[in-house]
Amino acid sequence: MKKIDVKNTYDLKIAGGPEEVVLDYEGSDTYGVSPERIKYIKPKLVVKAGDSVKIGTVLFYDKKNEVNKFLSPISGIIKDIIFGERRVIKSIIISSDKKNQQEKITGPLSSDSVKDKSQEDIKKIIQNGGLWSSFIEYPFNRAPNDADNPPSIYVSLDNDEPFLPQSHMFIEGHESAFLTGLNALRVLCEKTYVGMSEKCKVNDPTIREQATHQIIGDYPANDPGVMLYYNKTSEKENDSWGIRAQDVIRIGMLIETGFYPNKRLITVSGTAVEKPMYAWVQDGLPIKDLLSDISDFQAVRVVAGGLLTGQKVLKDDFINYRDYAIHVLPEGREQELLHFFKPGFHRPTVSRTYMSALLKDKEWEMNTSLNGGHRACISCGSCVAVCPVETYPQVTMKSLSDNDIETAMAQGVLDCVECGLCTYVCPSKIELSEIVTNAKNMIAKEVGKA
Ligand code: SF4
Repeated sequence: MKKIDVKNTYDLKIAGGPEEVVLDYEGSDTYGVSPERIKYIKPKLVVKAGDSVKIGTVLFYDKKNEVNKFLSPISGIIKDIIFGERRVIKSIIISSDKKNQQEKITGPLSSDSVKDKSQEDIKKIIQNGGLWSSFIEYPFNRAPNDADNPPSIYVSLDNDEPFLPQSHMFIEGHESAFLTGLNALRVLCEKTYVGMSEKCKVNDPTIREQATHQIIGDYPANDPGVMLYYNKTSEKENDSWGIRAQDVIRIGMLIETGFYPNKRLITVSGTAVEKPMYAWVQDGLPIKDLLSDISDFQAVRVVAGGLLTGQKVLKDDFINYRDYAIHVLPEGREQELLHFFKPGFHRPTVSRTYMSALLKDKEWEMNTSLNGGHRACISCGSCVAVCPVETYPQVTMKSLSDNDIETAMAQGVLDCVECGLCTYVCPSKIELSEIVTNAKNMIAKEVGKA
C-alpha cells in the first residue's frame, strides 16, 4: 500500500464529540428537503403541493445538470413548497403516510454482477437513484456532467473533520454494500483509489485490503481532494472525482436493493447537546425533532456537516442530502458574529501565542464568538502553514484583490479543497477560504463549469 504523508494538517481538539452509542430515531409526521442548501445547483421542481410521492420519487433536479436528481426520502403527500426571495425554493415539506412505499429504481444486483455492467448502466443507476451528487468533480467541487468520464476516482474511507462519523461506526453491518459500491465505482473508472487513515479503526480485513493508500496526517488529510493532490502524476488528473465512503455505501445499498436508501448514520454532537452520540435517521427529519432536548434555540447555533465546512441551519430545517453530522454550539456573547466555522475557542492558539499551547491534549469548548474584530493581513504565514495542498492563501488573496486570476492560479488556487483551515487559523479573522472559493467559482464560470 502506498503511503501519503500530508505535510500541513491540524489536529482540531474540540470538546463535545459523540460517544460510540447509536440511537435509532423515531419517525416524524412531517419531513422536508431544502434545495436552497445545496451548493452550485439550480433546482427545477418536478412536484407540486398535493402530489403523492413514494420513497425515491424525483422531487427536483438541477437545471444545469439534469442527471443530478434529488429524491423523496419519504412516502406521503407534498404538503407545501416554501419559496424565498426571487422564488428561491427554500423547502419542500412532505406529510408522511407512514406506509414507506418505495419507487423501484433498478433491479437488485449482487456485488459480483455489478462488474458485468457497462459504465453507462452504472451511471444511470446512480443518477436515477438520486446519488449522483455523491460525486465531486475537481477542481470545481460540483457533481459531474453525464458526459464526463473521470481519469481517476478517489474514495476516502475516513473522516477527520470534527465530528463526522468514524468509519468503524458506519461500515459495521454495511460491509457488503461498501464492497458493492466500490465495484460499481471500478466499473466507472479502473483507477479507483481508496485512502485509509493510519488511525482507521475498521478491523474487517476484507475492507482494509481495499485500501490503495495509507493516509498520514490530521484534518484534512483524508479529504479525497488532498489524496488527489498528492497522488496525481499529470495535469489530466485534475478533473478526477472524489467520494466519501458513506456515499459509496449508499450506492451499494441502492444497487443491492434496487431502492433509494433513505436512512443515514449521523453524529449529533457539541457541548450544547446533553448526550452527544450517533443516530440512524431518515433523511428529511426535522432538526427540531432530532434536537428535542434543546429548549432555547436562540442560545445555540446548529451546524449541519463538519464543524469547519458545514452550514448553519435553523430549527425549522431538515436533515438534508449531504448532512452526516449535526453540531450544536453555544452562541457567543459578542454582538458581532461571523461565519459559523470561525468560532472563538476559550483561548486555544495555533500560532502558540497563548500558554494554552502547552496544553497539548486539552479539548477546547467552542462557541460562536470571534473574540475580537477583523484586521488587515499581517502576513504571519499561519494560513500557509496549515494549507494541505501547499497554496499561499494570503498571497492569493492579494492577487485576487488586484483581479490577478492568473497569478492566483499559478499559486494553486484550483487545488484548494475548501477545508476552511486557513480561515480558522487566521489571527486577523479574514475569510480566506471564502475568498479562495469565490475565486474558484469565478474561474468555473469562465470555463463554463458553473
Ligand atoms: S486555501 Fe485554505 S481552504 Fe483551501 S485548501 Fe488551503 S487551507 Fe484549505
